[in-house]
Amino acid sequence: MTEPDLPDPQGALQLPQHNAVQEPARDGPVERERNAHPVRVAMLAPPWIPVPPPGYGGIEYVLTLLCDALVERGNDVELFCAPGSHSKATVRPLLSAPHPEAIERSLFEADHVARAFAAFDEASASGHPFDLVHDHCGYTPLAMADRQELPLVHTVHGPFDRDTSEFYDHHGSKGGLICISRSQAGYAPAGANVVAVVHNPIDVDAWPVGYQKQDYLLWLGRFVPEKGPQRAIKVAKAAGRPLVLAGVVQPGHERFFAQEIEPHIDGQQIRFVGEVGGARKQRLFADAYAFLMPITWPEPFGMVMVESLAAGTPVIAFNHGSAPEIIEHGKNGFLVENEDEMAAAVERTAEIAPADCRRSAERFSPHRVAAGYEAVYREAIDRGAVGHAVASHGR
Ligand code: UDP
Repeated sequence: MTEPDLPDPQGALQLPQHNAVQEPARDGPVERERNAHPVRVAMLAPPWIPVPPPGYGGIEYVLTLLCDALVERGNDVELFCAPGSHSKATVRPLLSAPHPEAIERSLFEADHVARAFAAFDEASASGHPFDLVHDHCGYTPLAMADRQELPLVHTVHGPFDRDTSEFYDHHGSKGGLICISRSQAGYAPAGANVVAVVHNPIDVDAWPVGYQKQDYLLWLGRFVPEKGPQRAIKVAKAAGRPLVLAGVVQPGHERFFAQEIEPHIDGQQIRFVGEVGGARKQRLFADAYAFLMPITWPEPFGMVMVESLAAGTPVIAFNHGSAPEIIEHGKNGFLVENEDEMAAAVERTAEIAPADCRRSAERFSPHRVAAGYEAVYREAIDRGAVGHAVASHGR
């Protein structure tokens, strides 16, 4: 089973020369501040999973927090999304059903995006136009962004791998791209117009902190080789601790699960609990002795790391991708190079206080993240849509 084929980074932590990059302030009074220049945003979610997600759904979880924070800060946000969604934003479902089983199937994406573009036109025609589109929806909206009037910004939620790099090289200047880590931005191809790095948000107040830990290690996510559940099993065996594996086996990954994971599940040391959500997921994080992140690829962000920290559980991560931007070695977890080091770090986990983990997640607060996006929106609106006069939508 192979891991994803990635191009060489343009220079990790070093952003492409041609792009101006800004990040939300790390400190300062952005918390709960209202936006001095409120923006009317068409937030375009993917069509697959409702917001908030009932179980698996990293993008949808980000959208839950981002939409609420933007609305609390005085912005006018309409969320174009899968049916069954709830938000402080105005919810605008477009298709008749969500499609979690058909992620990336173009039939549903094309239908969803075409209906969204029609709604943007209707809003303009009715005299209440959007200021811009914030797209989280795969590839169609960005590829077609030069065909519509509104400025578009696009959060890059996935890696710049060989396939997507070609796409972003060709279409990535049709809108402003926001990367979710400096590591990810370092892989952007030359044609990608990366305008900012804005980390993903976590609402720490919504997570219970676990002060009394149980003895199990936790791995949670999509069962794919690059996320390393097979390595988490090795580490648990080497450390002599139980491991709880939670998550989804998405279409195309059944063989990996059957060959590399299933044979090790014994219900004792290696336990598999399937997809989890809500309070059960939070308890799993809060009670875990440590969270394992044995990634060997440049993970663009990794929501599970900040979720674990919010729950007061140290993260032991391989030193790849965004991990060094989130984990402070010895403070909220450990950065390691291989399975042996990870197994050794498990024994040092008791040195880390749950309260320190929790505190370290606070810099990813939804309001701070929303402030970062507001700065991006303002710049995109001032610059106008690619290939269109700004005056055409009343600004
Ligand atoms: N998730 C979940 N239940 C599961 C597996 C995953 O709720 O059984 C959530 C997880 O808590 C996180 C998201 O799905 O919020 C996965 O996001 P992440 O950035 O870690 O990985 P991605 O799959 O987006 O690469």
